Amino acid sequence: MKLSSPLYVVWETTLDCNARCVHCYSDALFGRGPDYWPLKESLELIDQLAEAGVFILALSGGEVLLRPDWEQLIAHATSLGMRVTFATNGILVTPDVARRLQELGVSNVSVSLDGATAENHDAIAVCLASSKKHVRPYNTLLKQAYG
Ligand code: SF4
Repeated sequence: MKLSSPLYVVWETTLDCNARCVHCYSDALFGRGPDYWPLKESLELIDQLAEAGVFILALSGGEVLLRPDWEQLIAHATSLGMRVTFATNGILVTPDVARRLQELGVSNVSVSLDGATAENHDAIAVCLASSKKHVRPYNTLLKQAYG
């Protein structure tokens, strides 16, 4: 079977981030500020990916939740039949955010946890939230998904 497009595309929607991990793979910077394409161009990109036959769109960063239009990106992609996954460092995941991710039909949410101990996580991730707070997004997402 010959494929005409990638099945799976990871889109680094912004390099702005509210963490500063020592291992960051994407040159994301703490406090970089808005650096992303305007909404119109972003929606056009999603149109092109859907038209090309991309089946799964992974929204990544940086931190996607720093984009004020993250809900519109998801809604547009799912309306075109794409499966959407979402990567976040978890700092901004609140019960409302978890609810919206589920309502918008996100099929998979990835949250980074960068160490097996609180000390390791804090040394590596250098996030604004300490590891003790960092378990909060897992609990919030699990509660939304499973009640
Ligand atoms: S949370 Fe992700 S994007 Fe942000 S600094 Fe850490 S590795 Fe980079």
